[in-house]
Parts: sequence; C-alpha cells; structure tokens
Amino acid sequence: MLRRTAVVALLLLATTSPPVHGASPDSWTWPLDDHTIGERFDPPATDYGPGHRGVDLAATAGDAVRAVAAGRISFAGRVAGVPVVTVDHGDERSTYQPVQARVKVGDAVRAGQVIGTLLGSPSHCPAACLHLGRVAGDDYLDPLELLGGGRFRLISPHGKPPEPPGGAGGLLRPVGGPITSPYGMRIHPVTGQRKLHDGTDFGVPCGTPVHAAAAGTVTARSSGGPYGKRIEVRPRPGFETSYSHLRAQSVSVGDRVSSGQVVGHVGSTGLSTGCHLHFMVLKDGKAVDPQGYL
Ligand SMILES: [Zn+2]
Ligand SMILES: [Zn+2]
Repeated sequence: MLRRTAVVALLLLATTSPPVHGASPDSWTWPLDDHTIGERFDPPATDYGPGHRGVDLAATAGDAVRAVAAGRISFAGRVAGVPVVTVDHGDERSTYQPVQARVKVGDAVRAGQVIGTLLGSPSHCPAACLHLGRVAGDDYLDPLELLGGGRFRLISPHGKPPEPPGGAGGLLRPVGGPITSPYGMRIHPVTGQRKLHDGTDFGVPCGTPVHAAAAGTVTARSSGGPYGKRIEVRPRPGFETSYSHLRAQSVSVGDRVSSGQVVGHVGSTGLSTGCHLHFMVLKDGKAVDPQGYL
C-alpha cells in the first residue's frame, strides 16, 4: 500500500512538469538582468550562408543565465567547441551560448530559472555576450519578437496610442517578462472583490532589477499596506510612475533617477500572491493604463 502511494506520488510529480509538446509561449522573459542588445538577428540567405542566427545580449562572464520560458532541457554540451544549452518549449526551442550548464538534459525548467553560467569565451562578441537563439524545427527565428512583451502586445483601446520607447511621453518597460494582469476591472486574486486593478503586472522572478520607466525625481519610498515596498518617481509635474511589491528599494526620496536606472528589485511584499511588479502611471493623481505609454 505504501509503495503504491509512492508510485502515485511519482506519477503526479511527472505529470505536473511543463508540457514539451504544444504551442510555444507568446513571450519570453529576459535571460539576463541586463537588457542591452548587441548584434541583432540577421538570418542567412541560404542554409549555410553567413548571417547572425540569433541576438546578442550584453553580459559579463559569470552572469547567471535564465530560461526565457518554461520547458525542458534538450541539450547541454558543446557544438563546435562552444558550450550550448537548449530548452525545448514545444514548437520552438531557445538556445544559449557560450553557457556552462547548471542543468542536465531532461530537466524541466520554469521561466526565469537559472540554467547556466555565462562564459567569457569562446565568444563572437568583442566583449562577453550571450548569444540567444530561437529555433522552430530547422528554422531560426528572431528572438526579439518574443522578448520584453512578445508578439501580442496589449494596447488599451481607451488609452492614447503607444509611442516608441524614449519618445515624447514614451516609457520604457521597467522589467522584461510577460504582462500577467493588465490594468482594468478584475476580481482581486487575494480579496476576491471586484475592483479596478490600478496598474500593470509583469510576471518576473523575485530579485529581478526594476528599471525606471522614465527619468524623474523619487517622490515617495514607502512600505506596508497593499502595495508593500514601493517607489514613486515623478518624471514631470502631474505625471507619476510607481513600482510596488518590491523586495528591496534602491533609491531614496529626493533622488534624481535616470531612465533605465535600477530603482529596486522585484518581490512579493504587500497584498501579493507571488513575485511580480505592479507598475502604475498616475496622471494628475489618477491612475491610468500604463500600457498606453509602454
Ligand atoms: Zn551572436
Ligand atoms: Zn498589480
């Protein structure tokens, strides 16, 4: 009887692993804390022609490299002398090099889980970089289509049209990762009450650095209450941004922050069911849909 219970438990464990077959994720989380893009995707004209079959992300040797989406490790070894890790997501795979694996073939991984350590060489970048690839069958696809929001970017029909990042009024995404709950009316996951969700939630792992969506002045640094640890940044009078449920706050009231500067790290403080960033935009003191600005 005991043995049978153990077998059932094992079966349950096996069936709760992420599926390997089926539709691939619509968006990827960033594999590194640094989101600086180096050489972009430049598919070769022929199968064996010159080109760049992925995207290079700025990195430092020793950086932890994270899975861009849930999946299963399908390769961890060397290809032409370069250490490579491959994660199978179903229809598509993501590849990471040069990366020393911290996982083994067959391991199930979650989005954001550390799968290896970035190596300084051999590298085809002038400085160290992560070469991230996206493969479907034998075809190479552009990873940037899925990174930082994905191909189905949600745009509010009520908000103003989005502007390009860095453009007048345009905001940078404070973190990579998918939007897990948009601004709008919803049933609150903790209280069960129907009310306005006054910001945009990004699903990112605990500890992910949070970048200022725009330059501005830090107007509040608070703890406790439903928002937990929170930082508010005012880019201009009548226009404020805030970052909630942080694990750690990196700036103080009165600080001037530049666009992209780290203001804190993702946590689950306050009324929160797990690590994520709750990002708000306030216009004249009233919460508006941040996706109109992202
Ligand atoms: Zn490359
Ligand atoms: Zn939220």
